[in-house]
Amino acid sequence: MDYEAVIGLEIHCELKTKTKIFCGCPTTFGADQNTHVCPVCLGLPGVLPTVNKRVVEFAIKAGLATNCEINKYSKFDRKNYYYPDLPKNWQTSQYDLPIAIHGHVDIDTPEGRKTIRLTRIHMEEDAGKLVHSGNTIKDSASSDIDYNRTGVPLLEIVSEPDLRSAEEARAYMEKIKAIMEYIDVSNCRMEEGNLRADVNVSLRPVGSQELGTRTEMKNINSFKGLVDAINYEIERQTEVLDEGGFVRQETRTWDPAQGITLSMRSKENAHDYRYMPEPDLPPIVTSDELIEKYRTELPELPDARRARIEKDYGLSDYDAGILTSSRAMAEYFDAAVAAGADAKLIANWMMGDLAKNLNAEELDIKDSPVEPERLAGMIKLIEKGTISSKIAKKVFKEMWSSKDVPEKIVKDKGLVQITDTKAIEAIVDKVIADNPKPVADYQGGNKKAIGALVGQVMKASRGKANPQVVNKMLAEKLG
Ligand code: ADP
Ligand code: ZN
Ligand code: MG
Repeated sequence: MDYEAVIGLEIHCELKTKTKIFCGCPTTFGADQNTHVCPVCLGLPGVLPTVNKRVVEFAIKAGLATNCEINKYSKFDRKNYYYPDLPKNWQTSQYDLPIAIHGHVDIDTPEGRKTIRLTRIHMEEDAGKLVHSGNTIKDSASSDIDYNRTGVPLLEIVSEPDLRSAEEARAYMEKIKAIMEYIDVSNCRMEEGNLRADVNVSLRPVGSQELGTRTEMKNINSFKGLVDAINYEIERQTEVLDEGGFVRQETRTWDPAQGITLSMRSKENAHDYRYMPEPDLPPIVTSDELIEKYRTELPELPDARRARIEKDYGLSDYDAGILTSSRAMAEYFDAAVAAGADAKLIANWMMGDLAKNLNAEELDIKDSPVEPERLAGMIKLIEKGTISSKIAKKVFKEMWSSKDVPEKIVKDKGLVQITDTKAIEAIVDKVIADNPKPVADYQGGNKKAIGALVGQVMKASRGKANPQVVNKMLAEKLG
């Protein structure tokens, strides 16, 4: 039997507010354990929460940026469960009246653009963190609890089960990440857990419209983990079904070290949580005016920016997509364009040598040793004819490991392109004298033979002769 994978993501996105969602404690990452806590986020009796206005603003902006309807009447609910990292024994979240519903975003797939629907976006508080004495909870004699993260504001962004492959899930999560970065509501540092996903996967026979039984993998916080976990789970479920078995609805955990998913518990249902309205917080009531104000404050979003740079600079849809795929990429491109270099050349270099070097060293473009201004400076030297594209590769390599401006590198290393015809002529004459065979071939009618001669001149000039000048001169001399 052929199966189709059906995937839905619940993405948790930590908001970059200065303080927590219901108290004034700071949200900064990496502080000493239990130093960012107060009676409210510790859940001590007799204290009351107040909603951080910024959280509501960020949630509404996230909703608008993902084409959601904003619920003008929204409320908080208690999701009850016991775990040591949750001091109140309930998580203040949203249940039946979330802040935003019915959105959609577009992703690129090999078959073209595809729209992924968002079910909802709601606000909630993060839980604390267990710090095990060993590597895992199983081999630990004890665990500490760090409540610094308790009460850090989160958005939960829930997709409809519209995704059909690990690659689509990745493209979707990348899109959500880009949007949250563009609108500046989250740092989206996945390694710090700012962005993590619960991934729901099921299979069904190709052509079937019904949903199969799903498993859910919690807290996946890297794109590689997302892709690997989904592919593993598709394979595992396929085997179960092929052997005539049933997939059990359960929560599984992804173990990146072993590259497998493991069963944790049978999956809980909403009624297990005894959701109830949060009596300590008033409902969130917003107005059309406020929503419109937030809408006008939104920056240009990835899709709009893509369309714009495609049109403004004559870039391909594909290139424009890559150049706007993250806020950092888009900002790098913009800075290089602002520095006065040709946009198409910038695009080529960003997706060529720059991407290659960043990948090799696993660097983010934000940390690129070659800044947009220096890349632009180098491209301007190509445009002026001071260096050839080939020499530029050397200059780029030098810039990667030094702080020098391209002009200085070109001067220090003697990389200036030779356009002086006298100097080139001497080399051309020597090459013609030393290479009778290609000369005869060319003069005998094989025009392609000139390539070998151009190559010799370039070699003799150590790549510095201007290839256009060389070509022209050879053609003239050979008649
Ligand atoms: P919860 O997991 O908290 O119980 P939901 O039932 O709303 O919440 O589902 C959460 C996610 O699971 C959504 O992203 C949804 O698209 C996805 N999902 C629901 N049913 C399936 C299914 N049969 N296969 C794959 N994903 C599913
Ligand atoms: Zn606090
Ligand atoms: Mg879930």
